[in-house]
Amino acid sequence: MTVRTRADLAALPAYVPGRSIPGAIKLASNEVSAGPLPSVVRAIADAATAINRYPDNGAAELVARLADRLGVPAEQLAVGCGSVTLCQQLVQATCAEADEVVFPWRSFEAYPIITQVVGAGQTRVPLTGGHGLDLDAMAAAITPKTRLVFVCNPNNPTGTALRTEEVERFIDRVPSDVLVVVDEAYKEFVDDPHVPDGVELAKAQWARGRDNVAVLRTFSKAYGLAGLRVGYAVGSPKLAEALRKVAVPFSVNALAQVAALASLDAEDELMVRCRAVVAERTRVTGELRHAGYEVPDSQANFVWLPLGERTAAFNEHCLAHKVVVRAFLGDGARVTVGEPEENDAFLAAARSFPR
Ligand SMILES: *Cc1c(COP(=O)(O)O)cnc(C)c1O
Repeated sequence: MTVRTRADLAALPAYVPGRSIPGAIKLASNEVSAGPLPSVVRAIADAATAINRYPDNGAAELVARLADRLGVPAEQLAVGCGSVTLCQQLVQATCAEADEVVFPWRSFEAYPIITQVVGAGQTRVPLTGGHGLDLDAMAAAITPKTRLVFVCNPNNPTGTALRTEEVERFIDRVPSDVLVVVDEAYKEFVDDPHVPDGVELAKAQWARGRDNVAVLRTFSKAYGLAGLRVGYAVGSPKLAEALRKVAVPFSVNALAQVAALASLDAEDELMVRCRAVVAERTRVTGELRHAGYEVPDSQANFVWLPLGERTAAFNEHCLAHKVVVRAFLGDGARVTVGEPEENDAFLAAARSFPR
């Protein structure tokens, strides 16, 4: 006899992390290529002397700091072990077996996996022909079983972003007992003024009595702390409390907490880096289009190449040129915008791809 695990796990897709290949340029995981700031490394090193102690389970200092910065009460915040863990907590906090989650597809790879692991049902709503979220179809996909809708803005992996009035119109169409989660993992790379700040948008909704809007943010991307795992959710006091209830105790570690605080101290410096990435995004997009590729406008730190059946060949070609991109076979390739030399290496590979 062997241990009996859940029968439905066989049908569960594995999360495929971006590959790290020694000597190759990694543009596969939307990380910031520039290393951590010295001030952040120092804060982590100092805190390392106290890791015999459990971390602050409520991350009180970080929560207070974020509350102050975002202009929301601390009780409306929940910190998590990366925002991917908060995605899971959101599904756990809202869904039992008979309930459903609606999300766009293709979008963040973790949504379908997490939903299935929690045991809820899921409805994947195809993107528009322009690779953006189809909010009309998403609204139409909501049923009495729906408890949660993920709105990834900008969308991973296509980079497309929704405008304020589109998101507001969508929220108007969602029943007020269904939670809308705006996942803003790439918010700091947005330079289109028509794209909403999710927290400001949520505040306006809360003010008109709609408490069913929440926002997810992370320190993994723009703040460069992917390896430490810390993100946060902003929602109604009731939702934040529910998120804290389903959290695994002590999952936000002590080094992540101090590093997040030190990164907020160094925010101006980090945002300069983000602006450089945005400038490179414009350059990379332009060069790719010039080379004949279709590239949707991206508001994130990556670009999307909808290559369909040629994705696998493109992936192999890039690997042969020592550039690791993130291929979604049969669909497209997502390429992180890195440092100028890294982008040049990728562009050289893309230009020499036989088409
Ligand atoms: C990267 C990413 C996250 C999660 O990041 P964490 O490292 O878990 O904080 C969440 N949502 C989207 C859309 C992402 O791309």
